[in-house]
Amino acid sequence: MTTCIFCKISKKELPAKIVFEDSHCLAFEDIHPKAPVHLLVIPKRHIGSINEIGPEDEVLLGHLSFIARELAHQCGVEKTGYRTVINTGPNAGQSVCHIHLHLLAGRPMHWPPG
Ligand code: 5GP
Ligand code: ZN
Repeated sequence: MTTCIFCKISKKELPAKIVFEDSHCLAFEDIHPKAPVHLLVIPKRHIGSINEIGPEDEVLLGHLSFIARELAHQCGVEKTGYRTVINTGPNAGQSVCHIHLHLLAGRPMHWPPG
């Protein structure tokens, strides 16, 4: 996926404020933060959305949540709370077609989301 911006970030062809990296995942600050803490956790391999995941991706998707938990702990928001979101498709407002888990924290969140 040569045109995908998150593939480019994962290959370091585009800059990002990276806060975590391992062999499968990358986490970086959202360029337009919607909360005092707004990180994106992505798989390095291109997967367009949850609609494209297969059985072989189950562990990887769980890993994204595990990394989000670790980052929430590092940011000191595990007690005050945080929200993890994966938007899928137009009605959910997905604007980048490379799976990403949002980690949002640092302010009270409304429910249901808009
Ligand atoms: P979505 O709307 O697809 O769930 O979330 C995409 C997110 O990616 C948005 O919150 C947006 O601000 C963020 N984003 C879009 N382009 C870039 C970029 O080039 N760099 C970074 N760090 N975040 C981006
Ligand atoms: Zn991609």
